[in-house]
Amino acid sequence: MFCYQCEQTVGGTGCTKVGVCGKNEDIQSLQDTLLYGLKGIAAYAYHARELGAIDKEVDAFMHEALFKTVTNVSFDLNQYIALVLKCGYINIKVMELLDKAHTQRFGSPMPTEVETGTKKGPCILVTGHDLLDLYELLRQTEGTGVNVYTHGEMLPAHGYPELKKFKHLAGNYGGAWQEQKKEFKEFPGALLATTNCVLIPPENTYLDRLFTVGITGVPGSKRVERRDFSELIKKAKSLPSLHESSSKKIMTGFHYTAVLGLADKIINAVKTGKIKHFFLVGGCDGAKPGRNYYTEFAEMVPDDCVILTLACGKYRFNKIDFGNIEGIPRLIDLGQCNDAYSAIKIAEALAGAFKTDVNGLPLTLVLSWFEQKAVAILLSLLYLNIKGMHIGPTPPAFVSKNVFSVLQEKFDLKLITNPKDDLDKILKK
Ligand code: SF4
Repeated sequence: MFCYQCEQTVGGTGCTKVGVCGKNEDIQSLQDTLLYGLKGIAAYAYHARELGAIDKEVDAFMHEALFKTVTNVSFDLNQYIALVLKCGYINIKVMELLDKAHTQRFGSPMPTEVETGTKKGPCILVTGHDLLDLYELLRQTEGTGVNVYTHGEMLPAHGYPELKKFKHLAGNYGGAWQEQKKEFKEFPGALLATTNCVLIPPENTYLDRLFTVGITGVPGSKRVERRDFSELIKKAKSLPSLHESSSKKIMTGFHYTAVLGLADKIINAVKTGKIKHFFLVGGCDGAKPGRNYYTEFAEMVPDDCVILTLACGKYRFNKIDFGNIEGIPRLIDLGQCNDAYSAIKIAEALAGAFKTDVNGLPLTLVLSWFEQKAVAILLSLLYLNIKGMHIGPTPPAFVSKNVFSVLQEKFDLKLITNPKDDLDKILKK
C-alpha cells in the first residue's frame, strides 16, 4: 500500500508505521468503522429507495462521511469519534425509513406460524432481504402451480399481510446463509438471490438454476431484469418437484407494533416477578467456530426470562420450544437485520413504561456481528448510550486496541467469554 503522506510504500524504509497517510491507527480504525457503518446504512437506504422512500439527511450524511475518509482530509480524532456516533444516529433514521416503507407497502407484520416442511410441486427458493422482489415473484407465480419458499433471512416476509396472503408462499426452507451451499444443492427447484448474504455455488452444483436480481451478482448465474421473473418461473417448472414433508412450525412477525400490543401483559409479568429479565440475543451468523455461544446462551437462559431475537444468529435456536410466560412467548423473533428498528422501539417503549431509560431496564444485549448492517446497528446502540452490551464472537478486526478500550470505558462494552459465566454475571447484578 502506498502512503501519500510519506510518499513511499507503507512498511518501507523510514515508514513510521503509524498507518497510511501519517494517520495514527486509531484514526484509521475510526475511518474503517465509519466505512462499514456507511455500507450498512447504504443497504437500508437502497431497500427504502426501491420502495420510493428517501431521506435527504441520510443522503447528505453519506456524502459528508464518505468525504471524511478521503486522503488527507482530517487528522482530528475527536471529529471522527463524533462522526462515528452520528453514523449511529443516521442509521436509526434510515432503519425507521425502511420500516415505514415496508409497513406502508406490505402492512404491519403480525405474529405468524411458518411451515418449515415442504409441499409437493415445482418450487422456487428465495434468499436475501428484498421484500419487493418477493412480492413481485409471488404475484407472477400466482396460479402457476409453483410454490415459493423463503430461505433463512427472508423468513420475516411471512408476517406481512400483503405477502402472507399468497397461498403459494409455502414456507421457510433451511437455515442461515452459511448453509446455502448444502441446502441449495439439496433443493430441487430454482433459486433466486435478491440481496446479501449470497454465496458462490460450489462447482457442478446449482449454478445452472441460480438467478440473481437487483444488487446481487454471481458469475454464471442468470440475471433477472426489471423484476420480470418469467425465465425463473419457466426454469422452476422444468425442474424436479419437491416432495411433501412435514416439520416443525416456527413463529415470526413480532414487529414492534405487535409486541407493544402485549405491553400490558409484559409490564404486569415484570411487576409480579414472573419475568425477571429480558435478553436480546441477536445479530448475524457466520461459519466461524465460536458462534455456538449464542445457541448455548439461549438454551441456558432461565425459564423466568424472555429472549428477544433478530437476524441470522437465531436460526441455530429458533426451532427449540422455549414455551411461554403467562401467554407471552419466551422467544420473540423480531425479524432480521432489516427489522432491528423494532428492537429499538420496544426497548424505548419498555423504558417509558417503567419510567427509566434503556439502561435501567432488566435487559441485556448479547450480539453477534459479521456483516456491515451489524456494525451500523452497533453504532446506533452506542449513539443511544446503551451500556453493558456483550459482543462477539471476536472483536471487530478494524477496531484498534485504543478505540476498543474507549468503548469499554465509556459504554461498558464487553466481549463474550463463555455462556455460563456471562449469564451468571448478568443475572447476579
Ligand atoms: S442477518 Fe446478517 S448474516 Fe444474515 S443475511 Fe442478513 S446481513 Fe447476512
